[in-house]
Amino acid sequence: MKTQIPPSPEPPVENPRHWRTLGEREETPEARKAAHDEFLPGAVDVADLPAPSEFSRRGFLGLMGGAAVLAASVACDRKGEGTIVPYTRRPVEVIPGVANYYASAFQEGRRAYSVLVKTREGRPIHITGNDEHPGFKGKTSPRTIADIMGLYDPDRLRGPKAGGRTQSWAEAQGQLNLALAGAKAAGKPVLLVTGAVASPSRKALLADLKTALPTLEHLAWEPVRGDGAAEGARAVFGTDVEVTPRLEKAKVVLSLGADFLNGEDPMALAAWGAQRRLSEPGQATNRLWVLEGPLSITGSNADQRFPVRPSRIAAVAFALAKELHGRGLALPAGADLSAVPAGVPQGVEIPAEAWQGLVKDLASAGREALVLCGAEMTAEAHQAAHLLNAMLGSQALELRAAEPLATVRDLDAAVQGMAAGRYAAVLLWDVNPAYAFPKAQAWQDALAKVPFRAWMGLAEDETAAQCQLLLPVNHWLESWNDFGSGELSILQQPVIGALYDTRQGEDVILGALRGLGAVAPEDYHTYLKARWQKEVYPTGSPVAFERYFEVALHDGLVKDGKAAPAPAFKGASLATAAKQALAAQGGDMELVLVPGFATHDGRYANNGWLMETPDPVTKMTWENPLLLSVADAKRLKLNDGDLATLTVDGAALRVPVVLQPGQANGVVTLALGYGRTTGGMAAGKGVNAFPLMALDPAAPNLRAGVQVAAAGGSKPLSRTQAHHRLDGRELVQSWSLAEYAQEAKDRKKGPELVTLYPDQKFPEHKWGMVIDLSACVGCSGCMVACQSENNVAVVGPEQVVKGREMHWIRLDSYYEGDVDNPKVVHQPMLCQHCDDAPCENVCPVNATNHSPEGLNQMVYNRCVGTRYCANNCPYKVRRFNFLEYTADKVEPESLVYNPEVTVRPRGVMEKCSFCVQRIEDGKIRAKGEDRPLRDGEITPACAVSCPSDAIVFGDLKDPNSKVSQLVRANRSFKVLEELGVKPAITYLADLKNPAIEGGQHEL
Ligand code: SF4
Repeated sequence: MKTQIPPSPEPPVENPRHWRTLGEREETPEARKAAHDEFLPGAVDVADLPAPSEFSRRGFLGLMGGAAVLAASVACDRKGEGTIVPYTRRPVEVIPGVANYYASAFQEGRRAYSVLVKTREGRPIHITGNDEHPGFKGKTSPRTIADIMGLYDPDRLRGPKAGGRTQSWAEAQGQLNLALAGAKAAGKPVLLVTGAVASPSRKALLADLKTALPTLEHLAWEPVRGDGAAEGARAVFGTDVEVTPRLEKAKVVLSLGADFLNGEDPMALAAWGAQRRLSEPGQATNRLWVLEGPLSITGSNADQRFPVRPSRIAAVAFALAKELHGRGLALPAGADLSAVPAGVPQGVEIPAEAWQGLVKDLASAGREALVLCGAEMTAEAHQAAHLLNAMLGSQALELRAAEPLATVRDLDAAVQGMAAGRYAAVLLWDVNPAYAFPKAQAWQDALAKVPFRAWMGLAEDETAAQCQLLLPVNHWLESWNDFGSGELSILQQPVIGALYDTRQGEDVILGALRGLGAVAPEDYHTYLKARWQKEVYPTGSPVAFERYFEVALHDGLVKDGKAAPAPAFKGASLATAAKQALAAQGGDMELVLVPGFATHDGRYANNGWLMETPDPVTKMTWENPLLLSVADAKRLKLNDGDLATLTVDGAALRVPVVLQPGQANGVVTLALGYGRTTGGMAAGKGVNAFPLMALDPAAPNLRAGVQVAAAGGSKPLSRTQAHHRLDGRELVQSWSLAEYAQEAKDRKKGPELVTLYPDQKFPEHKWGMVIDLSACVGCSGCMVACQSENNVAVVGPEQVVKGREMHWIRLDSYYEGDVDNPKVVHQPMLCQHCDDAPCENVCPVNATNHSPEGLNQMVYNRCVGTRYCANNCPYKVRRFNFLEYTADKVEPESLVYNPEVTVRPRGVMEKCSFCVQRIEDGKIRAKGEDRPLRDGEITPACAVSCPSDAIVFGDLKDPNSKVSQLVRANRSFKVLEELGVKPAITYLADLKNPAIEGGQHEL
């Protein structure tokens, strides 16, 4: 190819196909200016920096003199953390400087994640998925990765307390035992409220407690799971069920408000990624239809999406069943849809062509079709979804009978029981109903009437404040447990001793059992092992149990059980459900309450990593704005950040609003889990939406007839959607399959760009990365993993408002098309490690420079903070430490730091290093074993965490490496390639598989 002088960079395109903000879409002067400005207004303000007068010349010289003395005396020990004493007897498994990995498990609700915990010198520092898990295959969820912060949470309660006074465990356990024995003797009920019991051993233990204390009443409660799913399942299966999608078996997937790609289910993301990483046009892939009110992560990845009010979802699902029946699909016995009219239900805007396309898609996919219903949807919608799957004979889901969970109505009955003096004692274990229950005040008033109130948890919360006895429990990284049933049993083992004077909750229950006169082992570890020996260990196994258990602990799981049979479908309730679905109305406006991406039900609200990770759709951090459609906002004369009053059934909240493209008109969304009143990080962030929840178990998260009105005033939003904007050109590529076929045919190699700089030489390796936008769903797991691996600082909401967030990798979301229902593309953006990096040649002190392996590296010690490099970076991926974000971090928080990565102080520029510490570690390992590096053996934290395998890293010098092969793919492109900076990151274009070409999102 002949070398040519490249044309001068194109000016920003008129009407860009992709846009990030409404202003960009409309090309307002403010948006154009914002795209050109280096920093957001306020980012370089000196208002929050020490005043210049504090740095008098005399003071400066004094300081420098002192610093020189200090530097000479402590060398690199910046903080002077005291005398270091080496091991006198080193634990056999610990080699200083070498990480150890232990298998363990994390639980959230009914789901258990098998994980590997990386420890350094006995200190857990990073979490990844366990690669032995056959479904998760080394992947896990963002919240699992981030919950290592829970271990080091400085707000953890460090010892038992009674009446505000610290107690010994003997005293505390004695009080609990006395109260339970008293209740038993008086024959009075004791109420125990826990989260979901996903552990068979914990379940057995609670059954033992029930035997020893027959008056025990146990409620297992998950505040945000949406009771509609359970009510719907009970109606058609007679039992609560757990639905596991098997996307790898589905050609057509219909989501009825189900956000199954939100990162919580790594297995779903893995199957999604596998179907979306196409290498040739014409390859088989799946098709995702999404009908939903709020735009979800799943909706943002849809091939065909239509905004539908949640109150109409059940009617839509029943109408689809009627249509499928009309096409010859049999109804299950007892199902009667005679009252359901065919066609698009009233009040639903789905064009006839799309409706017929959906019906045809489902009918022709048959057993390879899958219908999933969102947790927040009504019981009727869930019944209809089960009916659709039964009619289709879907093989793409697993249904298992599940232990029932308490509903809001059950909790309400408990409140009434407490108020009526029914209970002698209440024990609350890892639950926070004083915050997460719709009638929290009624709960608190009723609880106050119970004579004995005990609480078990990690950190004092709103519920702990109401209890007399506080029993601090171990974090899961300090605990034993097991999870699963059927084919797979997962083990949780402690990877560190208890940091404080805490106990595992199960040990407290064992103590209670002994107090009640039952025979119980001394600790839960013994209890769990005994149960495994009796129930999990295969009879007649040639391996001794101790060895069997050791291997299970090493692997983190055993795969030798049998799957439970799926419960049978009964259609008798469907006629009534269909009638209710047809009659359901949401009023002018309806509200959907969704679990917070960061907070879930509020349990992670004290976790800075999660709170500062932008919500994958709204890009909000730290709080929960009210989301409404652009049309509704115009009608209500509201703009981003304006304060609005949201009124639901007499309860009102004042909350800032965000205009969310893709949100259905007449639907507003608010995330749960914010507005806590306790916790150093959590308190006062956002508003508590639980008071708006209904006490109706058929759909507690949906409210009809809500009112939204401007409340006057506005507040700055800690939202990153408009931060770090790249200047106006087409930055992402997103094609339909037909466009892909065309692009692959017409693809021409562009002219090679010339440069005045000499070519870089890479004698051994040249590291590079490929990111497949078609596989990436935008779950943000990579952001959390990067934060954990690289000691990325949390800056707080005030700093995020100024655009000073420090993330080394971010997720840029681009919209395309109509604001009412745009297409969305998520693009991970990080340092592109350009060969001709524009940052390198402007650094006056050579603090950023190029390594012989193609890494754009930062020498923190040299950086003097001019920020020229950030100015010159076209990708806006460099992060400056405007303030000292890390110096105030002391133990226990600082224990989470990765010792292989420098903790950066104020005044230093930082950015992605391609996890250089992992590269070096891999090279040392290969050298130690006297072999060349293997392709794929070095993986940065973002790539390891990505459940859909959208990120591939490797050596571009090796033409056969996976990364080199992908660079040559017919979907590859480089962002801002025309600048001639030669980025080392290649992207693969996003692909959509619409049923209606060119109209996948149009209304
Ligand atoms: S690249 Fe990041 S955001 Fe995209 S799917 Fe992977 S982990 Fe999620």
